[in-house]
Amino acid sequence: MRRYDASEIEPKWVKVWEDEALYRASEDPSDPRPRFYALDMYPYPSGDLHMGHAEAFSGGDVVARFRMLQGYNVLHPVGWDAFGLNAENAAIKRGVDPKIWTYANIEQQSASFKRMGMSFDWSRRLASSDPEFYRWTQWLFLRFFERGLAYRKNAPVNWCPKDQTVLANEQVIAGCCERCGTPVERRDLTQWFYRITDYAQRLLDDMDELTAWPERVITMQRNWIGRSEGAEVTFTIQETGEEITIFTTRPDTLWGVTFFVFAVEHPAVRRLAELAGTWNAVRPLLDEVRATSLVERDAVDTTKGVPLGVHAVNPVNGEAVPCFVAPYVLMEYGTGAIMAVPAHDQRDFEFARAHDLPITIVIEPPGEHVDPDAMTESLPHEGRMVNSGPFDGEESPSSIAAVTSWLEAEGRGSAMVHYRLRDWLLSRQRYWGAPIPIVHCPSCGEVAVPDDQLPVLLPDDVDFQPGGESPLARHPTWKHVACPNCGGEAVRDTDTMDTFVDSSWYYFRYCSPGYEDGPFRPEDVERWMPVAQYTGGVEHAILHLLYSRFFTKVLHDMGMVSFVEPFPKLMNQGQVIYDGASMSKTKGNIVEPMPIVERWGADTMRLIMLFAGPFEDDIDWKLIESPPDRRPGVTSWLGRVFAAVGDAVERGPVVPEPEVLVRLTHRTVKAVTDDLERFRFNTAISKLMVLTNEMRAALDAGGGATGAARALTLMLAPFAPFAAEELWRVDLAEGSTVHKAPWPSYDAALAAEDTVTLVVQVDGKVRDKLDVPADIGEGPALEAARGAPGAQRALAGRQVVKEIVRPPKLVNFVTGD
Ligand SMILES: [Zn+2]
Ligand SMILES: [Zn+2]
Repeated sequence: MRRYDASEIEPKWVKVWEDEALYRASEDPSDPRPRFYALDMYPYPSGDLHMGHAEAFSGGDVVARFRMLQGYNVLHPVGWDAFGLNAENAAIKRGVDPKIWTYANIEQQSASFKRMGMSFDWSRRLASSDPEFYRWTQWLFLRFFERGLAYRKNAPVNWCPKDQTVLANEQVIAGCCERCGTPVERRDLTQWFYRITDYAQRLLDDMDELTAWPERVITMQRNWIGRSEGAEVTFTIQETGEEITIFTTRPDTLWGVTFFVFAVEHPAVRRLAELAGTWNAVRPLLDEVRATSLVERDAVDTTKGVPLGVHAVNPVNGEAVPCFVAPYVLMEYGTGAIMAVPAHDQRDFEFARAHDLPITIVIEPPGEHVDPDAMTESLPHEGRMVNSGPFDGEESPSSIAAVTSWLEAEGRGSAMVHYRLRDWLLSRQRYWGAPIPIVHCPSCGEVAVPDDQLPVLLPDDVDFQPGGESPLARHPTWKHVACPNCGGEAVRDTDTMDTFVDSSWYYFRYCSPGYEDGPFRPEDVERWMPVAQYTGGVEHAILHLLYSRFFTKVLHDMGMVSFVEPFPKLMNQGQVIYDGASMSKTKGNIVEPMPIVERWGADTMRLIMLFAGPFEDDIDWKLIESPPDRRPGVTSWLGRVFAAVGDAVERGPVVPEPEVLVRLTHRTVKAVTDDLERFRFNTAISKLMVLTNEMRAALDAGGGATGAARALTLMLAPFAPFAAEELWRVDLAEGSTVHKAPWPSYDAALAAEDTVTLVVQVDGKVRDKLDVPADIGEGPALEAARGAPGAQRALAGRQVVKEIVRPPKLVNFVTGD
């Protein structure tokens, strides 16, 4: 009997595939095959591959291999998101050079991917930390800079006063420095931004093209962009006459304004406080907020705040209301100042109660009269307008449009659209990233490094220990250069770019790796892109995907690409968790994929991942793990596949296959093809298991099974590429690889489901008969019975009290009064 032993076959085929360059995408213009760009989110090289990689890349590899078998010229590249904080932290903690640490991890992950048999085109391998890659990251920055899409402004950062260093948000743990535990402060630094807000509306509008994206990702992006329609209204400071503009989505509540609040960072605060003589009271609050980390700022106390001592005049009724400064109002949203309507906004309500401020109800709930003094929380926004001058009696929120028109007509405000989306802060005070290719000259200002001087290389000899400025700023010579414009003494920008900049364009580079005249050869990108299928984790639902979409639109505007969306089709795999929680070193619940590969084989590891459940659902390893030395179920199945295919080959094609096996084979081809189109990897595998059992039954009954054996081997190829290759080339003695063989086709008549007669009864009397699939389930059987004309006639005007469903033969409706 043909035995299955992964250790005998897998290393052999790894080598053959590499020697044959089997997975290299063809750039031959005469290649008639349609193209398919299968892209996986490129991994971060921290250590060896983990279970999340095994899950994601197993699924992505099924997609690429399935299309290859379907006759596509497939581009399935791999690379590394190689810049970033982990490498720099390793440098600080262990004294390893970030470059050495990063490239050693890339080597290890490459070896593991090869051992797993991933169908990557290795000739296109890249890392975002390669100078030939980041040369173009810098080149793109300069194009954005020229177009006014890259600019500098002051922005707050997290600052550890002990380590004297800037911290990323993820390095702030409960308000303290991850490294030393010191409470984190905020500091303002001049930083670089990409003007993504210019594209806010297009990022929303073009979502219409993303019909093949998961709905939740679309929703998350929509909320992140946060478009809101409303009005800008200008209040006047009574004491100074200066005008302060606010944005509100509810201009219909303007008559309910009882106070006015500034964000602590609002530029008018200090001036107004000094004028009103309240600066001594306001200043401690400003200092306190400035010392609060950005992370903590999100969970701010809504009762905190101090009076500014001035008043704002409401343009709709001329009322002067007191002004406050309070941390619950954020400078980043709206205009940094708000009109407070405590009757209809919960945060304003909490603030009003804490500061004993009046509450004016301007929208009454239908049929209710509410006493402001008795309120315990703010009221909803729906109802009839009251205390609202010319608008008393109008229905809200439908009155918003009328109020806005009135404001415009009266010259007191105007309709306005605001977005929650902020510009993308891209500079990092870090070493291990692409240097920002700008020179600061005392006479010329910000000067672009000329294209022919790119890349601006990272120096190798830097001190990584934290302290004051970034490692690049502390380097004795690196930053000192002649101004490219005037030749005078100048300094390089010492910040590096956010790694999300790298991942916003890496997929373009795969189309023409090694291209020297630009980030990519436009003709190559036009041939391969947009990406046919993008696969990756839902943790990238917002930033990475939004930034990539932004980059693509800018490249489109620059005339470099014809399309505006890079990834029309997106699939998110679930996470691999343990006992309901994420795997982590601190919890000690990390499971590694490579030991499974070594012990049971890469095909087993893939099948475990793909068979565990729907691809987009999380896999809880605790529920599927087995003792390390017990043969996994999928391995035993591969053993049965080998035995069945081996026996079928031995018996030969002369012995006829039973019709039931022939029919099942055609049905399986149809169903598995359909499953693969919809990422239903787990159900596809279970259908292949059923086919294996039917082959065994046919063989045991003395029949043949070579047709089924061929089809099964072909369909196995995307899931267990080693086992399929072995069976195809060795047992079935096909000359060339299974992975470029044609995907099996089916005969529609043979693939048709076996049907049986479903009897539909009403109160035990036969009212209709239907032809239904033999394997129909309860739900579909009931659905079909309800729709049967005979049943509908008999049920007219009657109440069904019970449904007896016995698929596939019987459904009986019991009626009563
Ligand atoms: Zn610290
Ligand atoms: Zn100059």
